[in-house]
Amino acid sequence: MERFSAVLQSVLEGKKPDREDIVTLLSARGNQVAALFRAADHVRRAGVGDAVHLRAIIEFSNYCRNNCLYCGLRRDNRRLPRYRLAEKEIMSSVDKAAAMGFRTVVLQSGEDLLYSASYIAGLVEQIKRRHGLAVTLSLGERSREEYRIWREAGADRYLLKHETADEKLYQYLKPDSSLQIRLQCLYWLKELGYQTGSGNMVGLPGQNLDSLAVDIILMRNLDVDMAGIGPFLPHPATPLKDAEPGSLELTLKILAVTRLYLPQAHLPATTALGTLAPDGRKMALSCGANVIMPNLTPAGMRDKYLIYPQKADIIEEPHQALDKIKALLAELARPVARDYGRAKIFSGGYGSHDNCKG
Ligand code: SF4
Repeated sequence: MERFSAVLQSVLEGKKPDREDIVTLLSARGNQVAALFRAADHVRRAGVGDAVHLRAIIEFSNYCRNNCLYCGLRRDNRRLPRYRLAEKEIMSSVDKAAAMGFRTVVLQSGEDLLYSASYIAGLVEQIKRRHGLAVTLSLGERSREEYRIWREAGADRYLLKHETADEKLYQYLKPDSSLQIRLQCLYWLKELGYQTGSGNMVGLPGQNLDSLAVDIILMRNLDVDMAGIGPFLPHPATPLKDAEPGSLELTLKILAVTRLYLPQAHLPATTALGTLAPDGRKMALSCGANVIMPNLTPAGMRDKYLIYPQKADIIEEPHQALDKIKALLAELARPVARDYGRAKIFSGGYGSHDNCKG
């Protein structure tokens, strides 16, 4: 059996990730790519089923204390009009999400320290009291104590992408922090009982298949409940404005291989993929993804929360976007999930199946 097929077979039988194997899978060409995507789709179906979880994202502040080289929200981007939503505005977006049938809201912001731990805890408590929705927070690096307060207030999940597991590249791209601090935060979140999400960017300048393989190993070692995988897209108001964007195929390969190693994790078909290609989300749903995160940030603010340019969902009204997503899911014969979508623990391999041979 050729090496690609042998590696794919061994992963399906539950073999732990090793860097060389992952690089072999990521180097797939031609028919092998199709076989990899089919295998990921098979593992996704067996691991988390056909249902797709819809999570409403509310970006409530685009202030950020950090200066990440790739990000449009970086503090040195003085061209960006900044906004902070008031509590009433945040809750009105939450009410809208609940009325539209979402079971999870994701509260996201730059690292904006103006929102105190008690303020955020108050929001979480209100959401729980009013609607009983699952709450995901994505507010960046904070202290263990702040994470604890939010968890006790009822927050269910926390999303903190590691972006790259390459320490040097991390330091270059995120000069205000370090990979070590990022990982410490992720360990705290896990200790505190959050369903913890991480994720990476694909196609960063200086990244290679080897470092992408380490990203996947890191996510598997962290046993993340969620993994957001998206292409790097250069933002014109950042120092990386002239860099090449990440490739669609490589991003999909990373998604597919992550699915093979994390069969029961929640993997979003990211907005960045929908930005890179009109049917990017559809392709992602066909090679491992099982989550979509529609944007419920108020219309006047959505175009001011651009980590990367031309996000796919900044113009559409939430109802239009939701209708489109439902049509896409109908086309793929994938139902919308009705439960809260708690990630499960993985405990074994998936055996072989005929479609997985490369
Ligand atoms: S990536 Fe996050 S932490 Fe970095 S500048 Fe953007 S919003 Fe801030």
